[in-house]
Amino acid sequence: MRMSQLLFSTLREVPSEAEAESHVLLLKAGMIRRLAAGVYALMPLGFRVFKKIENSIREEMDAAGAQELVMSAFLPAEYYQQSGRWDVFGTEMVKFKDRNGRDFCLGPTHEEIFAHVLRPEMQSYKAMPRTVYQIQTKYRDERRPRFGMIRCREFVMKDAYSFDVDEAGLDESYNKMYDAYCKIFDRCGLDYVVVQADTGAMGGSGSQEFMVKSDIGDDTIVSCPKCGYAANAELAACPDPVASLDEEMKAVEKVHTPNVGTIAELVGFFGLAADKFAKTLLYVADGEIIAAMIRGDREINETKLKNFLKCTNLDLASPAEVREATGAEVGFAGPIGLKKVKRIIADKEVPLMRNFLIGANETDYHFININYGRDFTADDVADIRLFEHGDPCPVCGAAADLAKTIEVGHIFKLGTKYSVAMGCMYLDQDAQQKPCVMGSYGIGLNRTMQAIIEQSHDEDGIIWPDSVAPYSAIVVPVSIANDTQRELAEQVYQKLCEAGIETLIDDRDERAGVKFKDADLIGIPHRINVGRRAAEGIVEYKQRRADKAEEMTVDEAIQRIVETVRKANVKRFG
Ligand SMILES: [Zn+2]
Repeated sequence: MRMSQLLFSTLREVPSEAEAESHVLLLKAGMIRRLAAGVYALMPLGFRVFKKIENSIREEMDAAGAQELVMSAFLPAEYYQQSGRWDVFGTEMVKFKDRNGRDFCLGPTHEEIFAHVLRPEMQSYKAMPRTVYQIQTKYRDERRPRFGMIRCREFVMKDAYSFDVDEAGLDESYNKMYDAYCKIFDRCGLDYVVVQADTGAMGGSGSQEFMVKSDIGDDTIVSCPKCGYAANAELAACPDPVASLDEEMKAVEKVHTPNVGTIAELVGFFGLAADKFAKTLLYVADGEIIAAMIRGDREINETKLKNFLKCTNLDLASPAEVREATGAEVGFAGPIGLKKVKRIIADKEVPLMRNFLIGANETDYHFININYGRDFTADDVADIRLFEHGDPCPVCGAAADLAKTIEVGHIFKLGTKYSVAMGCMYLDQDAQQKPCVMGSYGIGLNRTMQAIIEQSHDEDGIIWPDSVAPYSAIVVPVSIANDTQRELAEQVYQKLCEAGIETLIDDRDERAGVKFKDADLIGIPHRINVGRRAAEGIVEYKQRRADKAEEMTVDEAIQRIVETVRKANVKRFG
């Protein structure tokens, strides 16, 4: 492809909307263009990368015996109503009415649809095991779209679904997908970790996420350097707290704390550490207000809380709801004298605290010297806090690490939840009717593409791995006005194309510096500069990852590129 013909433009300025380095680079390199918050167009260079990721996924899914098909994205409400997820998705689901006033949505995920559509094929035990997949656009109206394609509202997902007669069959189908996912992410050149994931909201017997470490990740994982335990932090069990109850219980006092509502303000006002406070947070769980108590220096783990309550929707209470429940302004909630709360759940550290401080449910007042059991009790005591860096590993007790991650893939043993809801039943060998045992397996393509950049870039731009680069090589005639350089560059370009290397030639009438900058920004792995030694047949070969260019003959340079690209392809198909 000739750069003079390529539909492409780069940005010199850092776009103000972009917060993450990978997002900045995608925009600066002209790979994507923003249409609305969380909605992006893929431009030609970006789309080439995207299609390579898509092809890697398709080839590995096919190799694992999965069959491709495609469902619609325009879907009637009834199937999601049948499973109960029409309400669970809430406002994240893009819902609308058709011209006849019937409810529809744009599909956010397709478990129900596959279970419904494939019923006729799954009527006998003989039809299974079966795994099917699609690569299709999904829609989720995210509350806060962020970081470009990491959390966006329209994205392409590969979603696969397995159908088996029993749990043992599911385990086998699941393991096949696990292996295929490892191959896919290896091919994408990603450094990833596989962690245990929560199964709470969807039910199911097991789940793992493929995570890429990155500071812009939405997820946090716990990993143990000693035993190898790795889990999503929302799942990781916190250690049992150690009591420090040697302190005498003191008498409760009510203290006037004008305009002192946050933990930071309380720390300043009382001159006490945050772990001497217990904060009380109010939530609306499926329409009812509940209170969750936790030590002042800890964070609530909303997934654990949600799973404990077995509720489908959990949101922080609004200021108006807080005022109604406590009779006070926000910042003064406590467990004593709540007016309108269904249950109080205390984290398991709270009963072991001594002489601590709580809100008094009265604006500008707190109680000090509170003790659990003497002054109040909760309805339940449970592990509802977030695992912290250095907390002991739930398996071996060694200090565990925390890391932010981007979830690129998720595999899930669903069990029979959706087959039962959708009536996806089969007859077994004894003519007994049973629900199919399902698994679901997703990969977000857009975020995988961006995660590759998160892991592979420098101050000059993107560094694409050979396997997904939009083009493998770029030929740059240093001076387009010089006939010798231009002609040799054209020959090199032809030879590379003939050798099957996807190649760009920068035939634009631009300064060499501009061309080099652009080639680095868009991340082409191999560059050949045709410059002052063109007459001798000598060119410069520069790898995007390397610091320096090397001089060599045209044939040597071409051979280096062909060998490297072929090796990357062998890895792809090996
Ligand atoms: Zn461990």
